[in-house]
Amino acid sequence: MAATTAPEVQQATALWCGGWYRFARHLPSPNFGPRPPGTTIDLIVLHSISLPPGEYGGEEVLSLFTNTLDWEAHPYFQQIRGLQVSAHFFIRRDGQLWQFVDGDARAWHAGTSSYRGRDNCNDDSIGIELEGLDGEAFESAQYETLMSLCTALAQRYPIRHIAGHEHIAPGRKPDPGAGFAWQQLQDALAWEARCFPEGVPMPPRSR
Ligand SMILES: [Zn+2]
Repeated sequence: MAATTAPEVQQATALWCGGWYRFARHLPSPNFGPRPPGTTIDLIVLHSISLPPGEYGGEEVLSLFTNTLDWEAHPYFQQIRGLQVSAHFFIRRDGQLWQFVDGDARAWHAGTSSYRGRDNCNDDSIGIELEGLDGEAFESAQYETLMSLCTALAQRYPIRHIAGHEHIAPGRKPDPGAGFAWQQLQDALAWEARCFPEGVPMPPRSR
């Protein structure tokens, strides 16, 4: 064992307080649990959400993830009444970042799911919700926050895959949908193509 702490470890320590990201606003959710023993957290799952759907900037998503949403406040909420869910992170349209669950803990965002040969993706993934509507485009500020967050996550966890809810629950979930620019994220992160879902085109070899 080396006697000194490697620079990259020191940097990761500055970014994280346990599994809480220092550059997020923290709003702890009761909707989480322990991960199975020995879990390797190697997957980031991207989602889109807005409440009511297509309306941005309100407090409803924060309320949903903390079990304080007023189910009577909008007709749509009857469809999700009683739902107890969470994601680790939520990125608003202006790039503002919220965290609800310690990254070391298991959040409730994936549901029935399977990816890279493993079921129950909640066990070993980090869930990130983008404020938006599946199929619609996302904002530049959201990509900037997402890129910083993914980079920080990869310093704390052995991330090897990033996929959409639509890829881990195909046919059941459509988010984040065709409006999400996977190529833009891949270019920004400069992670290898094998980290991304199939169908994301390879970047040009020379640039
Ligand atoms: Zn989703």
